[in-house]
Amino acid sequence: MKIVRTVSELREAIAAARGAGASIALIPTMGALHEGHLSLVRAARAEHGYVVMSIFVNPTQFTEAADLAAYPRQEDRDAELAESAGVDLVFAPEAAELYPAGFATTVHVGGAITETLEGAGRGPAHFDGVATVVSKLLIAAAPDAAYFGQKDAQQVVVVRRMVADLGLPVRIVACPISRDDDGLARSSRNTRLSAEQRSKALAIPRALAEVSEAVRSGVTDATALIERGVAVLAQSGVTAEYLALVDPDTLEAVPRVTGATLCAIAARVGEVRLIDNVLLGAGPEQR
Ligand code: AMP
Repeated sequence: MKIVRTVSELREAIAAARGAGASIALIPTMGALHEGHLSLVRAARAEHGYVVMSIFVNPTQFTEAADLAAYPRQEDRDAELAESAGVDLVFAPEAAELYPAGFATTVHVGGAITETLEGAGRGPAHFDGVATVVSKLLIAAAPDAAYFGQKDAQQVVVVRRMVADLGLPVRIVACPISRDDDGLARSSRNTRLSAEQRSKALAIPRALAEVSEAVRSGVTDATALIERGVAVLAQSGVTAEYLALVDPDTLEAVPRVTGATLCAIAARVGEVRLIDNVLLGAGPEQR
C-alpha cells in the first residue's frame, strides 16, 4: 500500500491504476480508523480494482476548536488497518495541500438539508466544510464511486445533492451503520468516552430501538414516537440535542411515520457529541 501527500502524486497513482484497467473507489475519512471505516473499504473492495482512502482531519468542518483539537490522530495505526482491509492507496495531505494560502472558495449546499439537524446543531459552517472538502477530494481523485457511511445520514444527503448539482461523474454509495456488540454505533469519538459514559451512551441505540419497535407495533404519530425515544434517553440521564423523525431525502420533519422515515439523534455524553440514526418503515430494519 502506498501513502501519498500531494494531489499530483494522488493523480499519478490513480492514472496508473486506470491505465491498468482498474475502476477507482474513494473512501473519504478523517482517520482514527475503526471497523466502521473498514466496512466501507470492504464494500469498495468488492466492486472496484483500486481502492483509495483519504485521511484528512478537515479543519473547516469543525465548528468547535476543542473538538478539532481533541480529535484522535493515529496515522501509523491507520496505515496498518487500511492496508489489512485492502486499501491500495492512502491520500493523507497536510492542510496546506488542500487549503493553500489565500484559499477563498466555499461549496455551499443550500436549503433545509444543510440547515436542519447537524446544520442547526453545529452551525452552517459544518456542511460548507464537508461539501468543500468532499468536492475537492472528488475532483482530485476523480473516482468512479465514493463510499460513505449511513452513520452520517445527513452527510450522504448533502453529498448526493452536491454531486447532482455540480454534475460530478461519480456514484455515491451509502453503507450500513457498523455497531459494536453492545449496539453503540462505531465512531472515532467513542475512544474519548469513559466506561461510565459509554454505558450511558448506550441509551442512544436503545432509544432508536424503542422508536423502531413502536413503529413496528403500529404507532405512527411523530410526537408520540419522539416522546418514547426521549424517555429512554432520560432514563440514563441523556438529553438529546435533537431526536427527530424526518423524510430521508428532504430531511423535513414528518408528522406521521407512514413510509420510509429517518429517526436521527444527536446527544452529548460528557464532552463527546454522538450521533446515530435508524431508517424506519423501509422494510427489514437497517440496523
Ligand atoms: P469519519 O472518519 O468519521 O469522517 O468517517 C468517514 C466515513 O466513514 C464517513 O462516510 C462515515 O459516515 C463513515 N463511518 C464512520 N463511522 C461509521 C460506522 N459506524 N458505520 C458506517 N460508516 C461509518
